Amino acid sequence: MTLDLPLVFTVLMGLAILAYVVLDGYDLGVGMLMPAATAREQNFMVSSIGPFWDANETWLVLGVGLLLVAFPAAHGIVLTALYLPVFVMLVGLMLRGVAFEFRIKAEGWHRELWNWMFWFGSFVASFAQGISRSGAAPRKAVVIGGGPAGLEAARVLSERGHRVVLFEAAAELGGQVTIAARANWRRDLIGIVDWFRTQLDRLRVDVRWNTLADADDVMAEEPDIVIVATGGIPDSDLVPGGDLCLSTWDVLSGGEISGSVLVYDDNGQHQGPSCADYLSDRPGVDVEIVTPDRAVAIEMGALNYPIFLQHFYAKGVKMTPDHRLTSVIRENNRLHAEFSNEFGQRGIHRVVDHVVVEHGTLPADELYWSLRDRAANEGVTDYTALLAGREQLSATGGFALFRVGDAVSSRNIHAAIYDSLRLCKDL
Ligand SMILES: Cc1cc2nc3c(=O)[nH]c(=O)nc-3n(C[C@H](O)[C@H](O)[C@H](O)COP(=O)(O)OP(=O)(O)OC[C@H]3O[C@@H](n4cnc5c(N)ncnc54)[C@H](O)[C@@H]3O)c2cc1C
Repeated sequence: MTLDLPLVFTVLMGLAILAYVVLDGYDLGVGMLMPAATAREQNFMVSSIGPFWDANETWLVLGVGLLLVAFPAAHGIVLTALYLPVFVMLVGLMLRGVAFEFRIKAEGWHRELWNWMFWFGSFVASFAQGISRSGAAPRKAVVIGGGPAGLEAARVLSERGHRVVLFEAAAELGGQVTIAARANWRRDLIGIVDWFRTQLDRLRVDVRWNTLADADDVMAEEPDIVIVATGGIPDSDLVPGGDLCLSTWDVLSGGEISGSVLVYDDNGQHQGPSCADYLSDRPGVDVEIVTPDRAVAIEMGALNYPIFLQHFYAKGVKMTPDHRLTSVIRENNRLHAEFSNEFGQRGIHRVVDHVVVEHGTLPADELYWSLRDRAANEGVTDYTALLAGREQLSATGGFALFRVGDAVSSRNIHAAIYDSLRLCKDL
């Protein structure tokens, strides 16, 4: 049998806080009832807590100590967020302690004064605890798009206590990650999506699959917060004849391809090399990858590009740097692609069966623009607040609208997740 330590510590913390609430709650109650009692009753009340009132506070220290030991990151976040109320509570508890000791020794109006201090300290400590307990009221959040940006937004908003509906047009979560994971050795990327799926299950996020949400669908949910994480669409129509070309999405989504394929990649990240690698595993497919950069996969990190290059050399994928695609024309059922040389006068041309263009994505932002006029913040993210870790515009008078991930600009998984995390943690 394995011991679930987080659970054990959570139960211990719960017991410590419960003991504090019951035992010190009684003491605080005595303090706050002081003004309503006669002098004789006051002495009687104070005597009833005299032997152990200070020990009762120790339960709170134990609870917070356990939080620090078992969940140090949460301890940092919680105490940073509650810095002011905790400070006020400690001042109140100290005042109460001093007043408790002094009222016994004081006489006449001095005792009366310390009785009032005892009341005031108890009141301040209780009030500060009440403020700490009251967080932001839960709100209704609608997230559109189940790629990494939308998944992280739904997770964080749900962890924050909001009720979250997630619309996803496809029958599965993951967005472009599901395409990326189809390229042989990149298949483990799907672990990102699996992890998010378990988190959304745990948090009971209301996921609406197979729903291409429009503005009416979003408004029907009467949201307070709307996060548009609709990702992007391939931006492959960039030269004359671009409409004749395929995108990396077309290829990796399982399109039937044979013959000679030229992959033109001016993005430099994972998409182009993933596609070329995938194609080079197909029987009867010859692959060349052409880029205007000085090397293939120029934007890729050092942990990944050597693997792609090993595969390309091993499988005979031709790599041609320094050439920019200028046009594609159909020629006898084949495609004629022209390239200029980035550094020389003489360009090159190729005649192939297929041209695949990887040029990043264009934001799929129609939904964002159709909601913008109705949003309380007009869809504007307050970047000063974002960078300072402060809350965005309150949603009073309508919903607050934001967009994240590739719906803003063609980037990557890390950027999509980080966009959502740093925005939603303060909503
Ligand atoms: C082949 C390929 C390989 C890649 N490899 C890597 C890599 O190795 N590392 C890396 O960091 N990045 C990689 N990327 C890029 C990365 O996958 C994207 O940058 C990232 O997925 C963007 O996340 P997103 O959530 O913003 O958008 P997306 O992943 O595009 O998700 C958007 C989601 O919104 C849904 N949607 C759109 N409109 C609606 C609507 N109206 N209603 C409901 N749902 C809607 C879509 O169905 C989709 O599921 C790769 C991309 C591709 C195509």
